[in-house]
Amino acid sequence: MTGGDGRETVVLASANPKKVAELRAVLGDTFDLVARPADVPDVVEDADTFVGNARLKAVALVEATGSAALADDSGLEVDALGRRPGVRSARFAGEDATDEENVTKLLTDLDRVEAQDRRARFRCVIVLRRPDGTEIVAEGTCEGTIAAERSGDSGFGYDPVFVPDDGDGRTFAQMEAAEKNAISHRGRAIAELVAALQ
Ligand code: IMP
Repeated sequence: MTGGDGRETVVLASANPKKVAELRAVLGDTFDLVARPADVPDVVEDADTFVGNARLKAVALVEATGSAALADDSGLEVDALGRRPGVRSARFAGEDATDEENVTKLLTDLDRVEAQDRRARFRCVIVLRRPDGTEIVAEGTCEGTIAAERSGDSGFGYDPVFVPDDGDGRTFAQMEAAEKNAISHRGRAIAELVAALQ
């Protein structure tokens, strides 16, 4: 399906305004990006990989709308925890856990882990799925460490305790959005998607 100006219509799986704004800023000229229709229910994200969950969301949207769909899934892998919480990042401290509770559980679980063993990475996978069943998969990774305590109040999720290697020692929560987007897993996955579309 195409919009009035010939741009391909792409339905976004995310309702998160910050994610939608970031996608619009880089893909708005290429696609007619539209929000997920309110009557399309959330899918159960029960795959055990990021790409599996992103695909579940994208396929459900293509089936419901007949348009192409863009879905992402992301999370934090901590080496000392056997790469958990991974796909369970949003629910690490329980099904309806808040960001605050998830970060508290992470810091508690890493309580006795020394600074040099607190390696972690954020990963993001984006799936652009078309009605003919073809898809583009893009992935971004951001390596870093988990701090001993929270710093900063920007962002969301585990940002207050994640110190990216490509920064200057501040956590993601101490950075401006543009600064974080330039090195984040999501920013890198979006850049890879843009490159794949060239
Ligand atoms: P989602 O798939 O982007 O909704 O992310 C799932 C979970 O991973 C979020 O609820 C956060 O706990 C965590 N997460 C993903 N990306 C970020 C990030 O950029 N900063 C902090 N936490 C994140």
